[in-house]
Amino acid sequence: MSAFARDVAQEFGFRFGREARVSRAPGRVNVIGEHTDYNDGFVMPAALEFATLVAAAPREDRRLRVYSMTMDETRELDLAAPEGPTHEWADYVFGVAVMLEKSGLRLKGADLVVWTDIPLGAGLSSSAALEVASAHALLAASGLPFEPLAAAKIGQKAENAYVGMRCGIMDQYASACGVQDHAILIDCRSLESRPVPIPPDLKLVIANSNVKHQHAGGEYNARREACEEGVRLLAPFLGPIKALRDVAPNDLERYKAKLPDLVYRRCRHIVTENARVLEAERALNAGDPVACGRAMNASHDSMRDDFEITCKEIDILAGLAQATKGVFGSRMTGGGFGGCTVSLVEAGAVEAVTQTLIEGYRIATGLDADVFVCSPSEGAGFAAA
Ligand code: ADP
Ligand code: MG
Repeated sequence: MSAFARDVAQEFGFRFGREARVSRAPGRVNVIGEHTDYNDGFVMPAALEFATLVAAAPREDRRLRVYSMTMDETRELDLAAPEGPTHEWADYVFGVAVMLEKSGLRLKGADLVVWTDIPLGAGLSSSAALEVASAHALLAASGLPFEPLAAAKIGQKAENAYVGMRCGIMDQYASACGVQDHAILIDCRSLESRPVPIPPDLKLVIANSNVKHQHAGGEYNARREACEEGVRLLAPFLGPIKALRDVAPNDLERYKAKLPDLVYRRCRHIVTENARVLEAERALNAGDPVACGRAMNASHDSMRDDFEITCKEIDILAGLAQATKGVFGSRMTGGGFGGCTVSLVEAGAVEAVTQTLIEGYRIATGLDADVFVCSPSEGAGFAAA
């Protein structure tokens, strides 16, 4: 067992006086494909080495008792009479339990201990990791099988309907189905995925800008509406299209005049971003990180100029990385208006790149960036023995 998993198992023994099994689910970073998910398009996340661990053992009754080492708090729920969300961290765990039961499964009561080394609220999906790790742990404690895609859907349902956060399935999918040393290309329409190699001589360097501009929620909805408007206006010319996924870059150019300029530019981001995700996949499969990096840089430009979801701090971080030796490409990752950048970096250059990002960002903004160097890990399962 990893040292972390041993610590969590030990904490469980100390609190609950018996043995537990430890489940693990990783955080994720989206390598390329931003805002394409709700347009039925393509995304390419990778599961991280940062992960959430949940130690669990069944109880005789139907109560759930969960202690978070991260929060140093314990919360309880009676599965026989669940009381509903309380708008705090335990909702992610109990929401998953409630959704598992709603799907027709019958869970045993359980004691759980939760721990994570994913930075919370940084856009690396500690929430999805908690959901997926909880699903794995609750199923294991009940002697039920874990099916990764089904668990991802349960996690998304919990986050949508119990926590009350409208999100796509990418985060839970990556956490449940990640593949070591690979990103995964997810088709958000069919929900099929395929692994895309990111070998150990390439690293993902994540830089957290530590800014989150407040208007993000409203802007997110406005982007969704512009995409829907684009589909509505293009449908008379392109036939039965359901989403921007069905629009090729050429088609968009041909009917450009039918769209208000703003809607056109929003659509252009999505349509070209889908093409860039497929290009990044092709490049990585061909062992061509330069071409993958080019697609990542173009993705950043498109988010900045067409979709207008970046911000000054994020543009600075991406620009710093793009100008640094050993960096193939860099872009904002996540919903926008702050959060993190992700860079594809030659393994031998990661220390110099980290240094450059931290110093350059401080000089340009007066702010501290947190920088993490990651290799893609595998999705949820029992913590390695
Ligand atoms: P992100 O998913 O980007 O990290 P979110 O705001 O979606 O950010 O989720 C963060 C929230 O998830 C935390 O505020 C907390 O409520 C919950 N959470 C995640 N990991 C843990 C943990 N180990 N223990 C308790 N709560 C956690
Ligand atoms: Mg989240």
